[in-house]
Amino acid sequence: MVRLVLFDIDGTLIRTGGAGTASFGRMADLLFQKPEGMDRIDFHGRTDTSIVREFFRNEGLPDQHWNIHHCFDAYVFLLDHRLSMNAGEVLPGVRQFIASLRVLPEPPLIALLTGNIRLGAEIKLRAHDLWDEFTTGAFGDDHESRNQLARIAWDRGTQLLGERPSPNEILVIGDTPLDIACGGSIQARTLAVATGGFSVTELNSHDPTWAVPDLTQISATEVCA
Ligand SMILES: [Mg+2]
Repeated sequence: MVRLVLFDIDGTLIRTGGAGTASFGRMADLLFQKPEGMDRIDFHGRTDTSIVREFFRNEGLPDQHWNIHHCFDAYVFLLDHRLSMNAGEVLPGVRQFIASLRVLPEPPLIALLTGNIRLGAEIKLRAHDLWDEFTTGAFGDDHESRNQLARIAWDRGTQLLGERPSPNEILVIGDTPLDIACGGSIQARTLAVATGGFSVTELNSHDPTWAVPDLTQISATEVCA
């Protein structure tokens, strides 16, 4: 039985129409006069911290704590502004799936496992009234490596549950091969959704526990039993 469910955000819960990517691009232009600086970086399934570090490396910029914070301050401001004009959309089945988790006989803890920095995650999810659905989480400013984030989310879930769930009592839901690998790194169950750009066939080749077109196609009862 699943006691901790960990959701990815982009391509899994919501689609922002590239607001995150665009805000990073604008940040690179405003702060460093590198308008194309983000163009050759792959954002899929990455942590925000690793994206900024790759940008620094590519451009020969100093990779220092203050510089990263400076980037994120500008990024969240630009992201908030962009989402206030166009928030994007909640993906099919998301609200219903979360609601059905809550009415399970023994509802799991519902949390986030995302490469977004915490404030970025909050801005994106508040734009869709989803932020308050999540009790805890691990975020892109907790660690640069997504697999380490899985351990951090597990630890935070443990604190709230008062007892450490076993790997088989954890479900990781995401839209990229990196999410599947991340769940696999802690031997959790993995549910891959093809709402973020990867097809069910592509996702299946990475061996998730389940792969579905979207969250309308699977029940909370099935994945949590
Ligand atoms: Mg994603």
